[in-house]
Amino acid sequence: MTASYQQAKFLTSAPDAALAPPDEGAEVAFAGRSNAGKSSALNAITGQHSLARTSKTPGRTRHINFFTLDGQRRLVDLPGYGFAKVPLAMKQKWQRSLSHYLETRRSLRGLVLLMDCRHPLTDYDRQMLRWSADAGLPVHVLLTKADKLKRGPAANTLLAVGKQLPELHPDASVQLFSALRKTGVDEARRVLDRWLNMTRVG
Ligand code: GDP
Repeated sequence: MTASYQQAKFLTSAPDAALAPPDEGAEVAFAGRSNAGKSSALNAITGQHSLARTSKTPGRTRHINFFTLDGQRRLVDLPGYGFAKVPLAMKQKWQRSLSHYLETRRSLRGLVLLMDCRHPLTDYDRQMLRWSADAGLPVHVLLTKADKLKRGPAANTLLAVGKQLPELHPDASVQLFSALRKTGVDEARRVLDRWLNMTRVG
């Protein structure tokens, strides 16, 4: 079946992974610390201005948001949990729910992990890499806001993260990305194409 990222439409918002839509077809999840540039990246990849706005709706920032591409394929916006000022018990509940989703969701093909290129591989990122490795889930890292660095430092960051990744995850790749300049959008889409087994029409 052919599809395009531009066709992405909001499907549903689940307060908990247990309330996700049926576990059929294929999906790719996006995760990142809040402010890493996840919404901007989702919007750039789908060529839409406000697709990921739902994720910013107060009260929904901790929900898992599902976007459908063609009925068989989905993009999933995971909550940037973990650094919000909430009671520890609540944080642990999210973590359990999220790690459970990563480990048990059969339709999940890969995780796109967003890191601000100026502060990569935070504790949060390492945790996500660990869970994904345990779940046997491939990871593709987007070093976001690449326009904030000059060419040399950006290339050095890419090299440094690429060097460290194999110790943290056996099947992880990395690229530079800028939603502002739209750099790296095609490279990211090609990874999604592969994971979703997608023949694109645009
Ligand atoms: P989220 O919390 O991970 O969804 O992050 P957002 O997409 O909302 O972005 C957080 C902040 O970073 C916002 O102020 C964005 O304008 C900014 N931002 C996101 N992507 C880029 C980018 O590619 N370049 C620059 N310079 N700023 C960006």
